[in-house]
Amino acid sequence: MKALTYHGSNKVQVDNVPDPTLRELDDILLRVTATAICGSDLHLYRGKVPSVQSGDILGHEFMGIVEDVGSGVTDLKRGDRVVIPFVIACGSCFHCRLAEFSACETTNTGDGGALNAKDMRPPAALFGFSHMYGGIPGGQAEYVRVPKANVGPIVVPDALSDDQVLFLSDILPTGYQAAVDGGVTEGSTVAIFGAGPVGLMAAACCRMLGAEKIFMVDQHPYRLAFAQQAYGVVPINFDDDEDPAELIVAQTNRRGVDVSIDAVGFEAKGSTTETILTTLKLEASSGKALRQCIAATRRGGTVSVPGVYVGFIHGFLFGDAFDKGLSFKMGQTHVQKHMPTLLDAIGEGRLDPGAIITHRMKLVDAAEGYRVFDEKEEDCRKVVLTP
Ligand code: NAD
Ligand code: ZN
Ligand code: ZN
Repeated sequence: MKALTYHGSNKVQVDNVPDPTLRELDDILLRVTATAICGSDLHLYRGKVPSVQSGDILGHEFMGIVEDVGSGVTDLKRGDRVVIPFVIACGSCFHCRLAEFSACETTNTGDGGALNAKDMRPPAALFGFSHMYGGIPGGQAEYVRVPKANVGPIVVPDALSDDQVLFLSDILPTGYQAAVDGGVTEGSTVAIFGAGPVGLMAAACCRMLGAEKIFMVDQHPYRLAFAQQAYGVVPINFDDDEDPAELIVAQTNRRGVDVSIDAVGFEAKGSTTETILTTLKLEASSGKALRQCIAATRRGGTVSVPGVYVGFIHGFLFGDAFDKGLSFKMGQTHVQKHMPTLLDAIGEGRLDPGAIITHRMKLVDAAEGYRVFDEKEEDCRKVVLTP
C-alpha cells in the first residue's frame, strides 16, 4: 500500500510499504477514506520530536471503512464507516475507568515524553507519533491496523460526509476539551492564542458553550479573518500589537479574561531569545504563548493548554500564576470521552468543523500538503488527504 513516511527533518514522502495485518484479537483493519495533517504532525515533520525513525508512517487524524475485524471485536463489523480517535486506549485500566483515555497505562510500549518520570507508567500510545508513544504506524496511508477497536472507533451516520466528521478524530475534541477544561460557559470571556485548526475548533466550541467574548491572537491575517467571520472573535495580530495580553486586559475592565487557551504550543513564535535557545536546545519549549496566557487571564481564572509542550521552560513566570491564583489544565485529549457528544452536536448542526478545510489533496501528494500547511501558503488552514 501507499503511506506517507518520515525521512528526517522536513523530509516526508509517499512510499510503497507492506500492507498491515490483524495482530491482536481486538484489532480492526481500516481502509482509509480521509486523513488530515495536524499541527502536531508539523512538530514531527520539523524534526522537533525525538524518536521518530526513518520510514515511520505518520498521521493520526483519520477515518474509513472497516475492512476486516479480529475475533474479539464486539461492536464493529466489516463495512462499518468509522472515525478513529488518535489516542489508543484499553478502556479498562485505572485511567480509562476515570475517562482519562490519553493516560491509558496499558497501550504504550514507549516511555512517553516526561523528563523526570521516575518509574511512572507511560501515557497512552498514539497513532503515528514517535516511538515515545509506541511507534504505532499512522493513518496517512491506504490501510491502518487499529488496535483496541472496542474502545474508541465511532460509527458515523451515512448522512454526514467525511468532511463533517473527520475531525472527531483529533482537533474537534481537542478544541472542545480545551474549552471545557477552561470552564467556558454562558457569558465567559476567553482569549485563544493560535488561530490554527485547534484554535479554530476551540473558538467554535466556546461559541457553542455560550462564551460572550472571544479574543483570538495569531500573526496570520487570513486565519484571524476566518475566525472573525465564522466565530465572531475579536482578532489581534501580534505582528501589529506586540503585547496582545495588554490589549486584552485593557478591554476586560483591567481584569483579564476568565479563560485563556494556548493553542500554539512549544514552537510559539515572537521571542527571538527563545527561538535561538530552543534551536540550540538550551531551552526545550518557547514560553511565549504560555506567558501571554498567564498575563491575559483574570485572577482566579484558568489557563487551558491543548498546545503541545516538551521538556523545560525557564521563563515560565510561575510566580505570576501564583499571585493571580490561576488554575492550569493541559495534556493530550481524552478523545474517546468527547466523541459521542460532539457527533451529536455535528448531527444537530451546532458544529460544522469541516468548514475550516481549505485543501483537499490525494494521499500521493501528501508531501506537498505538508509543505503548504507548514509554510502557511495559499491561505492554508487545514489539509485533508484522500487515498
Ligand atoms: P498550527 O501550527 O496550524 O497552528 C498554530 C498557530 O499558532 C499558527 O497559526 C501560528 O501562527 C500561531 N502562533 C505561533 N506563535 C504564536 C504566538 N506566540 N501567539 C499566538 N499564536 C501563535 O497547528 P494546530 O493544528 O492548530 O495545532 C496547535 C497546537 O495544538 C500544536 O502544538 C499541536 O501539536 C497541538 N495539538 C494538541 C492536541 C492535544 O491532544 N492536546 C491535539 C491536536 C493538536
Ligand atoms: Zn493531532
Ligand atoms: Zn486504559
